[in-house]
Amino acid sequence: MDTRFADLADLGEALERTSARLEKAALLADFLRRLAPDEVAPAVRLILGQPFPAYDARTLNVSWKQASAVVCELTAPTEDQRDRIWSEAVDGGEAVRMLFETARAEPVTPPPLTTLEVYQAFEAMADATGKGSRTRKADLIRGLLERASPAEAKYVVKNVFGEMRHGVSEGIMLDAVARAADAPPKTVRRAHQLWGDIAEVAGVALTGGVPALQAATVRLFRPLQPMLAQTADDMADVFAKIEDVALEFKFDGARVQVHAQSGGDEVRVYSRQLADVTASVPDLVAAVREGLRAQDAILEGEAVATGVEGRPLPFQDLMRRFRRVHDVDRLARQIPLHLHAFDLLWLDGQSLLDQPYEARRAALAGVIAPPLTLATQVMPTDVTKAEAFAQAAYEAGHEGVMAKRLSSAYTPGARGRHWLKLKHVETLDLVIAAADWGYGRRHGWLSNYHLAARDEDTGEYMVVGKTFKGPTDAEFQALTARLLALERHRAGSTVYVEPRLVVEVLFDEVQNSPSYPAGVALRLARIARVRDDKSPAGANTLQDVHAVRDRRRARKGHR
Ligand code: AMP
Repeated sequence: MDTRFADLADLGEALERTSARLEKAALLADFLRRLAPDEVAPAVRLILGQPFPAYDARTLNVSWKQASAVVCELTAPTEDQRDRIWSEAVDGGEAVRMLFETARAEPVTPPPLTTLEVYQAFEAMADATGKGSRTRKADLIRGLLERASPAEAKYVVKNVFGEMRHGVSEGIMLDAVARAADAPPKTVRRAHQLWGDIAEVAGVALTGGVPALQAATVRLFRPLQPMLAQTADDMADVFAKIEDVALEFKFDGARVQVHAQSGGDEVRVYSRQLADVTASVPDLVAAVREGLRAQDAILEGEAVATGVEGRPLPFQDLMRRFRRVHDVDRLARQIPLHLHAFDLLWLDGQSLLDQPYEARRAALAGVIAPPLTLATQVMPTDVTKAEAFAQAAYEAGHEGVMAKRLSSAYTPGARGRHWLKLKHVETLDLVIAAADWGYGRRHGWLSNYHLAARDEDTGEYMVVGKTFKGPTDAEFQALTARLLALERHRAGSTVYVEPRLVVEVLFDEVQNSPSYPAGVALRLARIARVRDDKSPAGANTLQDVHAVRDRRRARKGHR
């Protein structure tokens, strides 16, 4: 029996009425169970309002104007009706339902719409391209809406725009699939992490059950969800969490997953969101064809936009490359991409996911050649060596390092403990030259500290930032007592002190600042700790602060 589209519309209305997650999953599971095998995947796509999976480059390409022209043609509302409905409806889909209810001129044309038929009409809309495609798309929408009840019309239009508003997240849908197929949620999630397509997982779960889900494996041209990293506090934290650690540069680019078949005859590139971005990156595709020495492979890496002398360009420039669909070649010349490969997930018919990282990386090294490069990697034996590598990464223009457990398998979609990211933090040792009396909770304490660096040319301490961030209550009290003992004079609520006390300061940026006589100011300064081991003579100078600013500027290439 063909499932009517009206049932899917009723489900949508029922989902809208409940906010309870469990109830939503139960409603969905009930619906999925009643579907014929070939209806499951299309129905899941139509429920989620994503007619095509992320990796599928097809798009509907229908504008709101085109769709609403068809709606108005079929409903012919008076101006009053239209204005009232537009102001009352919460979204476009709901407005269409109300228009159909109040102003549909003709009765609904039989036969009733089926779910499969609606899905096929969406495929036909995406397939219509070139001359006459606008008319063809409008005809297809009209063909559906002529036969639609008000609620069906609402869900057709919602699918055109991909905005469902019934609160069904991927998580809820996965739970529903597990219930409907009587499968453990973990098994369903794993298949989803491998295939990145929830509708296909639903189809397989409901036809083949648990054994079919368990047999799920990596497939070419089906991007897997990427393995993710947790944040580490510092290098000591990295060593405490991972004994067998490899460090790599953390490139400031965009993660890509490259699938290649038949020695590079067919290459597709997917973004971190699993979208097919092949058409925007012909230079990456060419580099893979040239540098990959394998029949079939799935590799991962970071695509970096390079400027003069191969230094990384700012992230915004890179993102322009990934969004571009027109004039791609010109942009590719302006902002060339380079791939730093760091993982290999599939090689010549074999999944490498369960192999340790060390083995995957060795296999990767065996199959890539210039212009592709392997992400720079070291295996440091102690924290000091590791920190030296992190410093080198930063000086070469990268945003930090990635730490990976050499013995770990690849876990798609998981943000686990086997990959840690460590962003570069830089600190300056500065001298407290003055402090303001606090107010509110900090009343009675000197709490806003004026942070100064000595100008080597004049010997004068120049303020480069102020902060009350960092110290605990007890530290505020201790600092207040120590600073009052160094008091020189007061003006208003500020106490000026002998420049003696050195503090280690974290910051985001060094900015040029017309309001500070030093000419520079730290953005988002916060005190990490008091450096009683340092004297003002050993603290950073104004010249050091300038050098940090200049280095940070140079670190990012300029076009
Ligand atoms: P984050 O996006 O801050 O969670 O950091 C993880 C991201 O860093 C990954 O998704 C990659 O896009 C990127 N990345 C840069 N270099 C590497 C590397 N050597 N290994 C793994 N990921 C990297």
